[in-house]
Amino acid sequence: MTPRANTSKLRITLNTTRDREFLDSWAELEVIGATPAGGVERQAATAEDGQMREWFSQWLRDRGFTVEVDRVGNLFGLLEFHDGAPYVLVGSHLDSQPRGGRFDGAYGVLAGAVAADRVRRHAAESGVTPRYNIAVVDWFNEEGSRFKPSLMGSAVFTGAADLEDTLNIADHDGVTVREALTAIGSIGDRDVFGAGEGSRRLAAYAEIHIEQGRELEKDNVSIGLVDRTWAANKYELNVIGAQGHTGATAIDDRQDALLGASLIVVALRDIADEFGDELHTSCGQMTVLPNSPVVVPREVHMHLDLRSDNDELLAAADAALRKRIAEAEIRAKVKVEHRKAHVWPGHHYQPQGVELARTVADDLGVSSMLVQTRAGHDSTNMKEIVPSVMLFVPSVDGISHAEAEYTADEDLCTGVDLLTETLARMLDGALDSAAAERA
Ligand SMILES: [Zn+2]
Repeated sequence: MTPRANTSKLRITLNTTRDREFLDSWAELEVIGATPAGGVERQAATAEDGQMREWFSQWLRDRGFTVEVDRVGNLFGLLEFHDGAPYVLVGSHLDSQPRGGRFDGAYGVLAGAVAADRVRRHAAESGVTPRYNIAVVDWFNEEGSRFKPSLMGSAVFTGAADLEDTLNIADHDGVTVREALTAIGSIGDRDVFGAGEGSRRLAAYAEIHIEQGRELEKDNVSIGLVDRTWAANKYELNVIGAQGHTGATAIDDRQDALLGASLIVVALRDIADEFGDELHTSCGQMTVLPNSPVVVPREVHMHLDLRSDNDELLAAADAALRKRIAEAEIRAKVKVEHRKAHVWPGHHYQPQGVELARTVADDLGVSSMLVQTRAGHDSTNMKEIVPSVMLFVPSVDGISHAEAEYTADEDLCTGVDLLTETLARMLDGALDSAAAERA
């Protein structure tokens, strides 16, 4: 699509030949960690994630960015126009789920980098520099598949998670975050941004992502303006039973941990059916011990989540789940330990950011609509510390966290244009009023 842009209102002149920079770079990026079925596998701090970070660092350096990595592996490309001026940060994450899709996260990082680079070129050509500096970010471990929880790098960055505790979190094989980041040579020894005297400061944040839902596609709209994020309750449970012989142990004598876990999985679905569309529930991971065909399982580790836009409904669902867990304990003769719980509260994005993106979409002649995000994003953390803009492009059939994830080139390029112009206006202070409200 060639948008009918209102060029007199645009900070940056956008034209289709510039799409090549995005699409050519995208063709190089999407093959890193590629799987045979068309997806990618680049879990956090694996060799593939390391290879991707190296490729991206080189991409940034080739275009004049300075590359720095902070103490939890967040990778930044910095472009300084004015010494001491705050930065507008733009980015997403390059890691993926196991057998994940090509677009989740990686699109937002490259789109942000290309948008920043367009601003750089425009400043060089016109001689007019923006008021703020630019930084591009690849947040470490957004996905939370290898190391839990998700949104790890941005949580440490915003102070929602502790650095030392996070570096000591281990994966399934006992490898810690610190060890894994060290192994791929992608860990820094100081903060890149900070609150102290002389440290770099942030003015605002922007992120673009695939929708991972069907709303935009259904309404044939190019851009989603995210005004609200669903809250998520995440639980890590240990179901403790007793190991036995699957043949010899009498049914009545069994303390079957897998039966207990299964009752909880069914309970999750029952609760979702009972509460309706406003609640999503799931169990995404179970580890069965000892996982032998002829042994009644002694223990199951499981990861559950409840998500909703409605805090009261979420609290009611939490109460219903706890009741069902207590019933499962009695029926399966097991004990359920609540190992950990993470709560990502639901919140609004700053309305000034939503309005800014809507105005840019209108000026570019691009269709847009308000959407909520049911999935968590790094912007969920960032909006707690600076005004943040979150944009979506359509996902075909809403497929995500799967190899069939797809977004058309045209939609990707429209997103890059919209992000570029939004970034340009943020760099000239378009969200200063939102920042002042926070202060
Ligand atoms: Zn993502």
